Amino acid sequence: MISDRIKKLSPYKTETTRAKVRLSSNELPLLLPEDVRKRIGEEVSKIPLNRYPDPKADELREIIAQHLGVKKENLVLGNGSDELIYYLSIAVGEFDRGVFYPIPTFPMYEISARLLGRSRVEVALSEDKDIDLEASIRSIRRFSPILAFISYPNNPTANCFSREKIEKIRQEGLFTVIDEAYFHFSKKTFLKDASSREDTVVLRTLSKIGMAGLRIGILVAKEDIAHEINKMRLPFNITYPSQVIARLMLTEFYHLVENCVSMVIRERERILVELSKIEGIEPYPSDANFILFRSHIDADTLHKELLRRGVLVRNVSHLPTLENCLRVSVGLPEENDAFLEALEDAIRSFI
Ligand code: PMP
Repeated sequence: MISDRIKKLSPYKTETTRAKVRLSSNELPLLLPEDVRKRIGEEVSKIPLNRYPDPKADELREIIAQHLGVKKENLVLGNGSDELIYYLSIAVGEFDRGVFYPIPTFPMYEISARLLGRSRVEVALSEDKDIDLEASIRSIRRFSPILAFISYPNNPTANCFSREKIEKIRQEGLFTVIDEAYFHFSKKTFLKDASSREDTVVLRTLSKIGMAGLRIGILVAKEDIAHEINKMRLPFNITYPSQVIARLMLTEFYHLVENCVSMVIRERERILVELSKIEGIEPYPSDANFILFRSHIDADTLHKELLRRGVLVRNVSHLPTLENCLRVSVGLPEENDAFLEALEDAIRSFI
């Protein structure tokens, strides 16, 4: 009785392999001091677990709105931005109109479209990892998708696409979702468009700033758009503990997040320099908290060799245009050192 649409899906793959140094999921290496943990524990212990949480997460939305410089009416919160990607895939246009996104990119855009039986208009990035504008416009005019997902910066290539190209795609009449999951590392945004235009929304998340375990995604849109999306939100989708902990983290303890983000940006630059010194490794520029690099040796083999040395990175070499590429998240300085050492050692063993 299960529909073919669902049977044909493959589940979202996460990296569950154990390793001493895990640099595969683009998490922030935020370590909380003991007194902060204690304080969080105290607040969590006060939660009346038999009660439902605030369905609108009003206090949390107010705090996030202040961070973003928008009104809380501009926000819809999701159980991770993954949930918001689903909502948008359901809400925008009728299902006989397709979904456009450049590839390779974040897999949830494809998974959501497949789930709903919507056609997918996928266009490969050009050699420089930017949007191939000519090919994109050609495909858009031919297949008339109505929704575009743009990962900005793009996961897994780590770069922000050209703003002009994104605007040209939007001009073709597509409702454009700018997924800014990695905003804190790029500082580039379409937030102004999202709060003023009918055809643009921005997605943010707390996952990449040290709170992946809370599952809080943020949709920023004009009030009327946010109001519509809010109607389809599952009730109580932000759990009580998540609301409480996120409120603390975004107020009292936000300086810890900011310090960690700055550290990661510094470390990113250091790793890029170090990678470019390793013979047989070509790193790509990064606006994110991870780095894509191409290896002269087979990526499957290199991935295994790194794991043998205790370092887990993401093998993205099976994705279109990413032959022999791996993706590494920026971690703590000592984790990054361990990665660089393991990489040098692995490459040396092949010469
Ligand atoms: N968008 C992009 C581009 C991502 O890389 C990710 C996580 N890997 C997400 C969205 C999902 O984030 P969340 O944890 O908020 O669901």
